[in-house]
Amino acid sequence: MSQAISDSIRAAMRPSAAALEPYDPAFTPSRINLSANENTYGMPDDVRAKVNEALCAVSANRYPQPLSDELRAELAAWHGVAPSQVIVGNGGDELLFNLFLAFGGQGHVLANVPPTFTVYRLYAELVETQVVDVPRDSDTFAIDVDALVEAARTASLVIVTSPNNPTGDLFSVEDARRLCQACPGVVLLDEAYMEFAHEGSSAAPLLGEFENLAVLHTLSKAFCLAGARIGYLLCSPSISGALAAVRQPYSVNVYSQAAALAAVRGRASFEPTIQKIREERERLAQGLGQLASRGVRVWPSEANFLLVRVPDAARVRRRLRDEFSILVRDFSSAPGLEGCLRITVGTPEENDAVLDALSTLVGEER
Ligand SMILES: *Cc1c(COP(=O)(O)O)cnc(C)c1O
Repeated sequence: MSQAISDSIRAAMRPSAAALEPYDPAFTPSRINLSANENTYGMPDDVRAKVNEALCAVSANRYPQPLSDELRAELAAWHGVAPSQVIVGNGGDELLFNLFLAFGGQGHVLANVPPTFTVYRLYAELVETQVVDVPRDSDTFAIDVDALVEAARTASLVIVTSPNNPTGDLFSVEDARRLCQACPGVVLLDEAYMEFAHEGSSAAPLLGEFENLAVLHTLSKAFCLAGARIGYLLCSPSISGALAAVRQPYSVNVYSQAAALAAVRGRASFEPTIQKIREERERLAQGLGQLASRGVRVWPSEANFLLVRVPDAARVRRRLRDEFSILVRDFSSAPGLEGCLRITVGTPEENDAVLDALSTLVGEER
């Protein structure tokens, strides 16, 4: 996937950009796509109708509201915070990028907890931020919280993903509190998958206590809008002010703002699907657990995906794609994730298909 850059053009690049390996989602069109943690059930019909209506009413001849005022107000009301404590981005990715523009750079430190979302390190390196890794346990993926709190004491930015991508585990609210107390900089809880976790898992209730806490949410996962690119940060007015200072003013377009507003107003209609995904997650985990004697291991997950270790993972992933037209994500060459695939929890039919295919493939591989 990586595109060729000629030597002369490369010589003109800033060194930190020339050194980057671009993010590659490794997408191939497939019958069943369980590779990107999208909501494969699609939008509920009533919300879909409202979104379509809203899109038809958009006038694109005018620039969008820079701070997505209406959407921001709706998100604020939902989460019980002031509108000044919400900032909307072109996907959570833009907000992550802007966090690094505002809080990263030379002389600044990111405390990072791998294995986790690799985008953090990518953006950190682009803006020449020093990355201090506090690795998770190689077997359970548990975080060494004492070590992380120590690293946080000298960090401008700490990022903890909860539930973590790709390991699926939560970070406790009590531990988040310790980080906020220790860190002189910003503590980001990336809660892109929080809607799939059990009640009371979000760190958002700490927002009233800490000016340096930011909580990232997205409409890409639970709310079926990955293609519209809408994420938002809940934080103090100071942090949203810092991000407003560095952001591109019109990054969130009028269509996406309109679609997101309709989806957020209709958020209750997503609940049955979210509940179904939680149930299917347990069923899929159980099915995979039955392959334990053939060398399959599955970790507990509070997200809409499962991390699974299988014998000969890269080959299994390729055969799933080429022989079954099922796409899952291969992490087997990522540090700390040897032999691991990440499977998004799909519809019952999709989950049955991946279970059947895997039980055939891992049977043969041994
Ligand atoms: C998907 C994801 C995001 C944000 O995705 P967007 O589509 O850019 O909103 C952020 N963090 C993690 C860990 C994710 O998996």
